[in-house]
Amino acid sequence: MTVLRPRTFFSLFISLIFLVSLAVSSEKTTIRINYANRPPSYLRALDLGGSLYVSSNDFAALFNLPFAISRERSKFELRLPQHRLKVTAHNPFFVITEVASNASSVYQVPAPVQFLDSLYYVPAHAFFELVERFSGIGVSWERESRTLSYSTTTPPPGPQFDISGIELEPRLNGYLLTLKANRKLTEYEALLKQNDGWLFVTVANARADTMAIRQFKTGPVIRQVLTFQSPTSVQLTFRVGTDVARAEPLTEEGTNNLMIALHTKAEVEKEELERRRQGAIRERLERERSRQKLDVIVIDAGHGGKDPGTIGVNKTREKDVTLAVALKLGALIEKTMKDVKVVYTRKNDRFVELYRRTQIANEADGKLFVSIHCNSTERKPSTANGFEIYLLRPGKTESAARIAERENSVIQLEEGYEERYKELTEENFILVTMRQSAFVRYSERFAEVATEAMASHLKIRNSGVKQAGFYVLVGASMPNVLVETGYLSNRNEERVLRSKDGQQKIAEALLEGIRHYKEMYEKALEETRSGSDGG
Ligand SMILES: [Zn+2]
Repeated sequence: MTVLRPRTFFSLFISLIFLVSLAVSSEKTTIRINYANRPPSYLRALDLGGSLYVSSNDFAALFNLPFAISRERSKFELRLPQHRLKVTAHNPFFVITEVASNASSVYQVPAPVQFLDSLYYVPAHAFFELVERFSGIGVSWERESRTLSYSTTTPPPGPQFDISGIELEPRLNGYLLTLKANRKLTEYEALLKQNDGWLFVTVANARADTMAIRQFKTGPVIRQVLTFQSPTSVQLTFRVGTDVARAEPLTEEGTNNLMIALHTKAEVEKEELERRRQGAIRERLERERSRQKLDVIVIDAGHGGKDPGTIGVNKTREKDVTLAVALKLGALIEKTMKDVKVVYTRKNDRFVELYRRTQIANEADGKLFVSIHCNSTERKPSTANGFEIYLLRPGKTESAARIAERENSVIQLEEGYEERYKELTEENFILVTMRQSAFVRYSERFAEVATEAMASHLKIRNSGVKQAGFYVLVGASMPNVLVETGYLSNRNEERVLRSKDGQQKIAEALLEGIRHYKEMYEKALEETRSGSDGG
């Protein structure tokens, strides 16, 4: 130890030479600390042409000694129990101040203090001797072996590093990289630059045991580890294998360790597939739900083309009335129910086979099938009157059966009808009913609300919901009804049915029925849905 001499140009010159040589031959190393009863620890050090420098920052942290840094003045101050030890970068003088008396003494050390990577490096031998002399914390420095021993009976200092090492373990879905931490790390981020194969883990307000990390055995997953320690954070930089596709930080109860899950490409692809599969399932469910929505209504104008249907007392043809009502109803739906699509089985005067009508409806994914017709008696004119709404069921009354027979007779105009239509015997009805069982309840509800709406809107008498075996309804895969709007065999009703005004009123009444039905249907659907979701 040399007591202060006046600063000379010579010593300044020596310092400059030293600085220059530092740039060329500085080598990072460590100083080992031997403890009496625990594994060794390390301090960062520099070897400059045989002279050893130790990081005063590391020393302060290792022995839990407070310290202060004045960046702008390049000063580091170590706070010993009764003294302050002050060093300045590029300066070979240590200033020691006794706190009680505020008396300072200055010591010249063999070489100036170095400042590198935000750390202060002081000549090791002089530093350790001075610290021990003024603090008596119990360290002894062996110059030859470059070892600092800590052998007092007082308990050794607590963990000085926040991150004391790293570990890598294989996991089912990749690898787990563990940063062993001595306290809970709260501020961190992990960033994988997959293209470059670098993983950056930055932990704020933490110090890492660089030496211990350096002892990590690299391999195909972690090929290289670099540690960048700054006063405010540490960045661990890993060169990762090409197989690593995603890095995800994790924490676990009961440990301070910070874990980073490294997902392999295969795993990420598998997850992606699974996510897509789940997405597809969700989409399908959504589609199925929207499929249930009352979004397509099929309007079937009875007869057409070579099949005029029944003929009124004043020669009104059923096919003209049904088409006019169908088009008017469709226009009203399109105008007032924006979320409903209208599909017609025919929009002009042409012949459409009965089986084809529900085929069109099924292909359009219809949610309601309304077949529009006009009634008639055999003997004309007659007083029989009123509208009737029919469900597809075995006819209960003779008149219902007769009406179905008349409406069904059109199949004789189709080629090969014997093959196509099975007689609606009791047995066949059972089969048809089974096929329609899923929505027969909705057919009934629609028939009821439509009947109600027509009864309140029209002067035509309400004959109620009826049932008969109409071929045109057999193939429907949706709720379906057949509406007999009125009797063309009745002079009064024929007048209504052939008038634009009368047709419009029938269409409006049917529209109201459809609107009520839609409300009721969608409410029931919502209840079923929330019921099943809740369970
Ligand atoms: Zn008809």
